[in-house]
Amino acid sequence: MRIESREMGNGAASLAALRFVCASCGASAPATGTRFRCACGTPFDLEDLTPGPSPARSGEDSQHRAGPASGFPLPRIEEQVRVGATLQAHFHKRLGVALGSAASGVWRYRELLPPLAETFIVSRQEGNTPLYPVGAGEPGAWRAIGAYVGVERLYLKHEGENPTGSFKDRGMTVATSVARTIDAQAVACASTGNTAASLAAYAAQAGLPALVFLPAGKVAGGKLAQSIAYGARLVSVSGDFDDAMRQVEAVADQLGIYLLNSINPYRLAGQRTIAYELLQQLGWQAPDWVVLPAGNLGNTSAIGAALLHAAEIGLIAQAPRLASIQATNADPFYQSYAAGWQSFSPVRAHTRASAINIGAPVSYARARAVIEATNGVVAEVSDDEIFAAKARIDRAGIGCEPASAAALAGVRQLTSAGIIAPGESVVAILTGHLLKDTEQITPEVSPGENQQGDDLLRAIEATLRKLDDK
Ligand SMILES: [Zn+2]
Repeated sequence: MRIESREMGNGAASLAALRFVCASCGASAPATGTRFRCACGTPFDLEDLTPGPSPARSGEDSQHRAGPASGFPLPRIEEQVRVGATLQAHFHKRLGVALGSAASGVWRYRELLPPLAETFIVSRQEGNTPLYPVGAGEPGAWRAIGAYVGVERLYLKHEGENPTGSFKDRGMTVATSVARTIDAQAVACASTGNTAASLAAYAAQAGLPALVFLPAGKVAGGKLAQSIAYGARLVSVSGDFDDAMRQVEAVADQLGIYLLNSINPYRLAGQRTIAYELLQQLGWQAPDWVVLPAGNLGNTSAIGAALLHAAEIGLIAQAPRLASIQATNADPFYQSYAAGWQSFSPVRAHTRASAINIGAPVSYARARAVIEATNGVVAEVSDDEIFAAKARIDRAGIGCEPASAAALAGVRQLTSAGIIAPGESVVAILTGHLLKDTEQITPEVSPGENQQGDDLLRAIEATLRKLDDK
């Protein structure tokens, strides 16, 4: 493969002040490195990106400056309010920007992201996803969703409405921009499908060769079609996602290919913006709960960390509680939670919600930490509950892929168990688009025969009568 040379500018220098740190043993490494596991085996974290009492990177026109070092003392209350208000003003101003990275629903929050030079940012205005009010207390047909789960104030944050149809684009814009910054020669990932589609698109935009490792026969058609169309090279791996993950980690390390799975801390840094954006959409009035599907636990980790940070720096008064929802038979995180975190054992995963069909989640320790810190909960829902919830979302005209519906199924279970109280406000995260996984849609209405003239009129009348009867 031929690799173009790129203008380097001060690219890598912008990251020179950042470190990867190990939460287990305290070791650290330069954040321009391509190994994302500490020698002790624990995935590295990116050191704290929180601005201190004086937000360092607030200039609209200036390039991002190096982030402050880790270990900030927590600002005092009045300082938190001041920092929070300053950041809110920056974020609000960028809502009116039409072009450039500031128009992105990720880079809008640049003060809370790794400091990258504008010239290296690979962005397509990702994020900016809708927050749909579907609570039982809302007017209109969408209220059926809130009524189904018994919540008056319910919102669906639809991350499936990102450029490639999943939340993965938020992390991918950051990690691909880092790949360009450090002059990576090629990028790779293992994927159940959505990561592959996102990586393929962003690598194409960045002019980088892309390799995607897919578990053979276990990737939904829409996602496969995207990866092929965007020009990634596909490597089919026998086994499941976890096998593909092990293989890509080994290969990437041997060949010096930049790994873009969520073990890459920059992916999680980008995913944090899901939380910042939903909070901004709610006018910085935090909901009581944020509920999300859980597979590899990258989103649980990233969104949880962002909500806690948002409270620490005064963007919101208090972090919401986090509820992480797994599918039965792909539930190692739930099993560990239910056992009081006494143990953690990977499982052989088996759920029809393919995006969360993961038995050995990479971000277990990080996810556990944020569940504990937000007084959160972990639940599991059956495939039947997932598909029942998906039908509600689909029939409302919104639609989502099966794994996304685990969030709504989780809200329903937690409400009926009395864990989510009546009157509490809830944001459920939908992670992927309806068209990602069309194999899983069961048609209730057959297309019918090719009718014409009076036959056609009679058929339509019969259909309308059936609707009236419902
Ligand atoms: Zn370590």
